[in-house]
Amino acid sequence: MSHFIVVGAGQAGQSIVTKLRAEGFEGEITLIGDETAPPYQRPPLSKAYLLGDMELERLYLRPANYYADEGITLVTGRTVTAIDRAAKTITVGDDVLAYDVLALTTGSRPHRLPTAIGGDLDGVYTMRTLADADAIEPEFKQGASVLIVGGGYIGLEAAAVAAKKGLKVTLVEMADRILQRVAATETSDYFRTLHTAHGVDLREGVGLKALTGAGRVTGATLTDGTTLNVDFVIVGVGIAPDTRLAEAAGITIENGIATDACGRTSDPSIFAAGDCASFPHAGVQMRLESVGNAIDQGEVVAQNMLGKAVSYTPKPWFWSDQYDVKLQIAGLSTGHDQIVVRDTDGARSHWYYRAGHLIAVDAMNDPRGYMVAKRLIEGGKNADPAKVADPATDLKALMRA
Ligand code: FAD
Repeated sequence: MSHFIVVGAGQAGQSIVTKLRAEGFEGEITLIGDETAPPYQRPPLSKAYLLGDMELERLYLRPANYYADEGITLVTGRTVTAIDRAAKTITVGDDVLAYDVLALTTGSRPHRLPTAIGGDLDGVYTMRTLADADAIEPEFKQGASVLIVGGGYIGLEAAAVAAKKGLKVTLVEMADRILQRVAATETSDYFRTLHTAHGVDLREGVGLKALTGAGRVTGATLTDGTTLNVDFVIVGVGIAPDTRLAEAAGITIENGIATDACGRTSDPSIFAAGDCASFPHAGVQMRLESVGNAIDQGEVVAQNMLGKAVSYTPKPWFWSDQYDVKLQIAGLSTGHDQIVVRDTDGARSHWYYRAGHLIAVDAMNDPRGYMVAKRLIEGGKNADPAKVADPATDLKALMRA
């Protein structure tokens, strides 16, 4: 009987094993993860779970009995330390397991601040795992001062939770504006106004110089010379794909574990999916860091592990919750040269165009705008910018145009 092993029990790993069984695979499946929890969803960690609005059980991607019911061996709390590609085995502690087909879904790791600037002090946190969220949560005491380093989605979501819980929040972003890497100026402006209205002290174009404290962080010096008293710090300065296992095994790395359109790595018996994997798109090896990508790419990889030849076409979508605003994003805004703002009774959306063609949307409390734009983008259709900007336009009519 064939043995398929999946290393990394997160969103993409779960997607692969689920799809393998859905496709009728009857062989042996082992899903191995180094975290102690069974596969869970990460997005609530910086949103509802941190706020205390979501119970632990609801984070899990499947009920506890799922794995036994589906004949999937779930191994948690154990790290895969090596792949022997010639022997087709992996090493987990003292065990060596043989595979017929292997999938790597090792995710990504957050960048940390260097030790030299206080990155290792107690009270300095990154936000990636359930264990991280559980460690941070007790710090969220009303009146405490938190410094958030980095104005990307995770930093902004943590700032929103902290402000809602009555903490004194300072957020520093080294770039000229928050969300600079991922969104248009209009979207940055929208979220700056939102956070400022909730009392967040948001400082853009200012970096962190150093954290100070004896053992535990108590202060921060910013690049403009300002000093702050802080009770704790959350660092949200981006992530790197976790390619360590693949790299040590001599698998090609290019912006993550390089795969072909089918998710196959440079070793034909080894696939990769999710945050750790790059795939060919528009002439480059692209990598996406999102739940949607982990699920969809995982499903494609599962089919190809079974010998099919299914190509992965990304349909990027993403979301973020901050205060009472739900942001929904579809498409990829990279290379846009025009932004169209649509504003209708508090529902707001920013439509991105490149060379006159709709490529992406950021929709704030605008599920209808999001849904219509997403369908147009995925269908390769366009929408007249003037009509989009006109609040009187019935968006559904754009789909019929
Ligand atoms: P992961 O979910 O990270 O899973 C990889 C797993 O592999 C990890 O458990 C890791 O510890 C394990 N592993 C690594 N190496 C080994 C090894 N050698 N042996 C065993 N196990 C190993 N995306 C959205 O689309 N919307 C959001 O709103 C959103 N919010 C987010 C909020 C937070 C706080 C975070 C951290 C992420 C958020 N994301 C969001 C991103 C999304 O969660 C990730 O893109 C997604 O989890 C990627 O899935 P993955 O399976 O590739 O990686």
